[in-house]
Amino acid sequence: AGAFGFWPASSKAMARMHVPRVGDTREDHCHVCLEDFEEGDMLRTMMPCAHSSHQHCIFSLLHDQRDCSVCGFKRPNEEEQYELDARTSDGSN
Ligand SMILES: [Zn+2]
Ligand SMILES: [Zn+2]
Repeated sequence: AGAFGFWPASSKAMARMHVPRVGDTREDHCHVCLEDFEEGDMLRTMMPCAHSSHQHCIFSLLHDQRDCSVCGFKRPNEEEQYELDARTSDGSN
């Protein structure tokens, strides 16, 4: 915990990933290290594809690549993320 110095400064979008509780995720195990989620684990959910893994696993994974290792979904870069946010927070239809 608190050892976030290893991720690149450009990873602001990562900090915005949903932080689910164990039991709230679709998966019951981490798709990176393949270990079961256990009570008290720090988890992160990739958005918008909603695949979950341990926080430390996903951070080290995303250090090298931007796409989800489950479905291959490419995470938007920060510029694209900004546009997505602007669109999704627009609520009205
Ligand atoms: Zn893991
Ligand atoms: Zn995915």
